[in-house]
Amino acid sequence: MSSYQLLLRFAGRYPGWVFLTVLLGFSGGLFNGIGTALIAPVLLGFLGQASGTDDAPSVIQTILSPFDAVPPNYRLLVMTGAVVLLILLKNLAAYFNTLVSGALKRALSNDLRETGLQLLLDVDLDFYTKIGVGDIIHRLNSEMVRAATAIMTIVKAITTIITITIFIGLLISLSWQLTIASTVLLAVVTVVNQVSIARARQFGKYLSEVSRGYSIALLDVLAGMRLVRSTANEDIEYERLKKLMRDREQAEYNSQANSAAIAPLSEVTGVVALLLIVLLGRTLLADQIEAFSTVLLAYLFLLFRTLPLMAQLNGARNQYASLSPSVDVANDFLRRDNKSFMANGSVPFQQLRQGIRFNRVSFAYPDYCSPVLKDIDLHVPRGTTLALVGASGAGKSTLADLLPRFYDPTEGSITIDDVDLRDLDIKDLRRAMGVVSQDTFLFNASVRDNIAYARPDATDHEIIEAAKKANAYEFILRLPNGLHTQIGDRGVLLSGGQRQRLAIARALLQNPEILILDEATSALDTVSERLVQEALDKLSANRTTVVIAHRLSTVQKAEQIAVLDQGKVVELGSHDELLNRGGYYAELCKMQFSETTQSIVGSTRNQIAATSYEIRTRLNAMMGSLRLIVDGYIDNPEERNELTEEAYYSALSLLKSLESLEHIQERIETPEATPLPIKPA
Ligand code: ADP
Repeated sequence: MSSYQLLLRFAGRYPGWVFLTVLLGFSGGLFNGIGTALIAPVLLGFLGQASGTDDAPSVIQTILSPFDAVPPNYRLLVMTGAVVLLILLKNLAAYFNTLVSGALKRALSNDLRETGLQLLLDVDLDFYTKIGVGDIIHRLNSEMVRAATAIMTIVKAITTIITITIFIGLLISLSWQLTIASTVLLAVVTVVNQVSIARARQFGKYLSEVSRGYSIALLDVLAGMRLVRSTANEDIEYERLKKLMRDREQAEYNSQANSAAIAPLSEVTGVVALLLIVLLGRTLLADQIEAFSTVLLAYLFLLFRTLPLMAQLNGARNQYASLSPSVDVANDFLRRDNKSFMANGSVPFQQLRQGIRFNRVSFAYPDYCSPVLKDIDLHVPRGTTLALVGASGAGKSTLADLLPRFYDPTEGSITIDDVDLRDLDIKDLRRAMGVVSQDTFLFNASVRDNIAYARPDATDHEIIEAAKKANAYEFILRLPNGLHTQIGDRGVLLSGGQRQRLAIARALLQNPEILILDEATSALDTVSERLVQEALDKLSANRTTVVIAHRLSTVQKAEQIAVLDQGKVVELGSHDELLNRGGYYAELCKMQFSETTQSIVGSTRNQIAATSYEIRTRLNAMMGSLRLIVDGYIDNPEERNELTEEAYYSALSLLKSLESLEHIQERIETPEATPLPIKPA
């Protein structure tokens, strides 16, 4: 679908509004044209000049004919009244036109946004891995409004073209010779404008790119505020965003400066052309008709009104040129043929009876040729737990993502009670699955709403029960408004462990048949980890569970452990079986143990290095101060006192640093018993 088709498709949904806009534009143009043509005879009448219109062009005679019936004494007065009435009608039409086109623009923007939103909720999750959230928000908000404005610009341009056609018709009927001359002169004016319009398009495109970059960067910083703060990168981010803001301001200025130059340029060239037309008109008309002053004046009035309309039309073209990149972006965003959507099945899913089976499942991500999963054969009987272990990147999350059909296998099939997942009703299937993942997602809503997300009809009693089971109730009670506390954007007000326990409470309340756990206790402190682990155990008890295990200590209870390596299941069995086999799993256990030890050694090393750095810095400062005093550079006694005092405080800090070094040494000599991740078999 081309961008023009997009415009037509959306504008076509509002035929009534579009017709009304064009009709109001047309009536306005008609009232404007006739009123303008009437001004000349009225003016000349007031100046006492006889209009003598007998040999005037027929259009003037037609416009003036209704006034023939009026007695001559009142004719001028009635004509003046008619001019005022026509101008009034023209302005009324313009007023209603503004209201109608405003309503049309709002309807179009909403329609475009709603279509975009619907698409975002339908499209495969893979779409979100290719395009950032900031980019999507920018497209859904700014670009859609700009696309709607582009459609309105076209509708307005059509109205202007109709008005111009009426004016040109009147001009031709007044004098075709003058109209040919005017057309040539105005063509020159148009060519001059073309150059600026071409530039406006370029500036518009650049501005669109720069503002998009800024929106994305701003959203990144807001979303990653914790990281920014924890790495003390506020100044760097401030400078980066400031530069992006300045770039956008500059691009806006350039675009505005170019657009602003178009109207004056067109007016100056227009006025020069007009003066040439006056000269020409006087020569042409004076020889031909008696009523030449009425005709020339009427002609000039009409032409003088046509010029701004031409400028308006040029302006609309210019505006469309700068908006058309957004139409392309909106078109690309709303197209369904360049995105993938999950096909729905028709078999309802009510209850899991036997189990889940992976039948020679292979999978490659869309647009990637190498498979991430190869020939996976697994069976998870109802009520049992399958743990997936393996190095990072082995394919564990991908395998888990196939269950709620975030992706479909490229080869093989996954069946639930022997029915292919692709045949099942996708909403039934997903409702039957609960996912608790590493990056727990919480909405910026109350604790209650977050827990009840999958079951909004749950009672307070049920929610509290779920919270209690998830070890979350105690901390919820301590929050300022208990269950009704708003938890801030993505739950920033809660600790990692608290967020996890809320997610577990959510899953407990949902009570899904099948549970997918991306076990995430590794980033938590010991107390939180224990609380989360307890809650997870309650959640997965007697439930068909697929758990991605990051810490091997937590998978020992699983009925089956599948060890994945580069997308293949290389070992399958219970914890004890696999340890006894002494293969890859046993190796992984050993590695994790040494990693834990190494991380303790590593962190001690870091602490020593930091303390030693601090001691060195303080010593340098102290020696610098003392050197100045010893060498007699400081004559001023006050300054000498100050330096001595500084040296004294540096020495005090040095003592403290030494104490902490001794403390670290003590810890190395009497290490706390490091819990083994796996008990030796
Ligand atoms: P694990 O969970 O075991 O750490 P993943 O399932 O996340 O492994 O990833 C398996 C492989 O698939 C990795 O090589 C990873 O780079 C790749 N991968 C993950 N997600 C995508 C994606 N959306 N598009 C393309 N490749 C991906």
